[in-house]
Amino acid sequence: MNIIIIGPQASGKGTQAAKLAAHYGIFHFSTGDALRAEVKSGSELGRELSEVMNAGKLVSDELIFDIVKKAYREHPGGILLDGYPRTVAQAELVRADLAVDAVVEIVIEDETAVARISSRFMCSECGAGYNTVSLPPKTPGICDKDGAKLIQRDDDRPEAVRKRLALYHEQTAPVIGFYGKIGVAVHRIDGEQAIEEVFQDIVGTLG
Ligand code: AMP
Repeated sequence: MNIIIIGPQASGKGTQAAKLAAHYGIFHFSTGDALRAEVKSGSELGRELSEVMNAGKLVSDELIFDIVKKAYREHPGGILLDGYPRTVAQAELVRADLAVDAVVEIVIEDETAVARISSRFMCSECGAGYNTVSLPPKTPGICDKDGAKLIQRDDDRPEAVRKRLALYHEQTAPVIGFYGKIGVAVHRIDGEQAIEEVFQDIVGTLG
């Protein structure tokens, strides 16, 4: 089973993706996490990527497609794509190659996104995500998993956040229409609810 999960930043997309992948026994692939790992490696490519990402812009379709293609070819048993496709052009690129069974769209208001982002932190070492309101670490500022310091992502700064929300409405929201048009079931989920309620809604509709 191949599932695509789409939603604006802070919609809880990454959290739900991890839960769904575990529930359905498929591989969770987050393009944002893959790109951040490349940045962290300190490579030349990583330095170029960090400039693009910190400005709240999108990485080129060609580069991201190569990364995604490798991931789904290595996981023929099923994949949950989190963060791809972000544009209709990206959706077209995988169309011939990957049979998409369902699209899950998580819907939240822009104001909710901005409010949630100000409370969002991640582990500086392992990248685990936290939210000081809905998913706090056991010790403030410290990762539960490895004890490393929690930090705020550079692309969670207010200017970058506004740019990413505008990009989402312009470029990513049309991806939903694209899948609807080619006959893939799109499941629209209310992301304003608590994490467990959102999860139950998704599983309830996907079956
Ligand atoms: P995310 O963690 O999904 O919010 O992704 C963080 C950043 O990585 C985005 O703001 C983009 O700069 C980049 N990125 C992630 N996925 C894609 C994609 N499918 N296409 C282009 N850029 C992407």
